[in-house]
Amino acid sequence: MSIFDFAAGTDPAMAEDAAVCSRKACRARASWQVLWNNPKIHSPERRKIWLACADHREWLEDYLQTRGLWKETLPLEDRAAGVLEQDS
Ligand SMILES: [Zn+2]
Repeated sequence: MSIFDFAAGTDPAMAEDAAVCSRKACRARASWQVLWNNPKIHSPERRKIWLACADHREWLEDYLQTRGLWKETLPLEDRAAGVLEQDS
């Protein structure tokens, strides 16, 4: 199982309008952005972002932390427009 399999619940077309939680099958509005980096495939300064609703923030953080990928979690309101990068 790839690390991305479970996070594919966000349709990129929908992400334009509403920030939805990245947890698979979750359609809740996201209020957090979980920033992570995989040193095996990303340059050190790069940040990937998963969106999280209040219910799944800890779940996603824990998932990344146990793999050593988690960097930080920020309120979604703080994101700069246009730089949001989601995995598909
Ligand atoms: Zn969620």
